Amino acid sequence: MTLAPNVYDAEPIPDAARAEIERLLNSGDLFRYTCPGDSPVALLEREFADLMGAKYALAVASCSAALFLSLKSLGLPRGARVLIPAFTFAAVPSSVVHADCVPVLVEVGANYRVDMADFEAKLTDDISAVLISHMRGHTSDMDAIMALAEARGLPVIEDAAHSLGTTWNGRNIGTIGKIGCFSFQSYKLLNAGEGGILITDDADVIARAVIMSGAYEHNWKKHPVLQDHFARWQNKLPLYNTRLGNLSAAVVRPQLAEIPRRVRDGRRNHDYVATRLNACDWLNVPAPLGPEQRAPDSIQFNLVGFSDAETLAFQDAAARRGVKVQVFGMSADNARAFWNWQFLGDAPDLPQTRAMLMRACDARLPARLTRAECDAVAIALVGAAEDVKDPQLAYGT
Ligand SMILES: *Cc1c(COP(=O)(O)O)cnc(C)c1O
Repeated sequence: MTLAPNVYDAEPIPDAARAEIERLLNSGDLFRYTCPGDSPVALLEREFADLMGAKYALAVASCSAALFLSLKSLGLPRGARVLIPAFTFAAVPSSVVHADCVPVLVEVGANYRVDMADFEAKLTDDISAVLISHMRGHTSDMDAIMALAEARGLPVIEDAAHSLGTTWNGRNIGTIGKIGCFSFQSYKLLNAGEGGILITDDADVIARAVIMSGAYEHNWKKHPVLQDHFARWQNKLPLYNTRLGNLSAAVVRPQLAEIPRRVRDGRRNHDYVATRLNACDWLNVPAPLGPEQRAPDSIQFNLVGFSDAETLAFQDAAARRGVKVQVFGMSADNARAFWNWQFLGDAPDLPQTRAMLMRACDARLPARLTRAECDAVAIALVGAAEDVKDPQLAYGT
């Protein structure tokens, strides 16, 4: 039997990155705005925009910085209220706070997607923008969200940090709202250690975001955007200096060609393990929505009929079997449990999201795993559920 695999190692960076990194090390040309021609960062922006089918891209220091600049580039007034899902990573409400806006949390269902009834109820006149975080790559109902937001003339930002390669009705996630934001942090599909990128078709949004990201003086001339949009904002916006460096871009660029393979293998592994988990009465992997083609590198599933004590026992049993599972709501400091976002003040009352977080499990499942390794993960998870709920059945396995 295959032992539970190491799910933490990243994939090696393609060899093609080495020559470019060597060239950059020799020239010392690491800042995006100093080199004479197109910098690696500028080339990455063009390639990423083309790949996604967006007009413009801006690479920055992180997805969080991209989210922050997105909000700033919309010109939202101080104190503007922004709807976000209550199931997301702490960096998302943080980016809203950083942009001097106020996050309003929307309920998320047992399928990890925005609860549309609560979304509609909270989409009141005092909301200025919508930020949809496709948490762990689960896509909420973008047709309904866009229809409701557009009816009110509200901009939608997509946090697609974990959704590169996911499509909705055949459209790339991140291109449906006005702005899409992605991450190059090591646990995402493209790994630069750190980094992020935003895409948009809106010339004014990209011009503002470029300047605020740190294109001081006339560095914006190195961006291929209608130049009068930049001229309009010259000296009028603060500089947050959250640019991406050339070394990071050189690490990402050769990975772009790997996206189709990583997406295909990640989906294959996920769907295979999901089928095995769903065959167990104690585990449930929610189905994707109809228009959604996912690109997962991890798996989320709910424990069915478990008490708090049994949930903790399941985590322990899975760990004993070599698979680390995190139940989002079961640790004091999980950054994805909204009640731990104490920087927002008192946690709102969100019973549906809370109930989900108390039983929703998170396990990594990288695209590089073999079928035998996926089997090992599935056997360990089902075995752990049986250890807790049906110890006689599990005995001896
Ligand atoms: C990783 C992640 C972020 C933050 O990305 P950084 O590049 O680390 O800032 C935001 N949202 C989601 C859904 C993520 O998965």
